[in-house]
Amino acid sequence: MIKSEKQALKQIIKQELKELRELLSLSSSSAKTVELDQTSTGRVSRIDAIQQQKMAINSLRRDSEREQKLIRVLSFIDDKQFGICEECDQPIAFKRLQIKPESRFCIGCQTLLE
Ligand SMILES: [Zn+2]
Repeated sequence: MIKSEKQALKQIIKQELKELRELLSLSSSSAKTVELDQTSTGRVSRIDAIQQQKMAINSLRRDSEREQKLIRVLSFIDDKQFGICEECDQPIAFKRLQIKPESRFCIGCQTLLE
């Protein structure tokens, strides 16, 4: 992978991490809000609120997993092996890495593995 591509990828990851952290702080506050409001809401809206809280907790989990993945990518992006498919040792397409920087396999191997 050439340097400018790597730079571009770093920018993409940093930007995504920034957005993820904003999302995380939003969903962690909505995951909390329900507990505080529980006594003051009616039955139906409580069920609603519980469902919303579940969704908030799910997206919280998903977002923080993604955050961890991206942090890991950032930590080895300068490594020579970065962007190389773990299966066939061929470079992973830059376009693929732009969308999914945590990709460990090229599109061909990924398809075979799934
Ligand atoms: Zn491959």
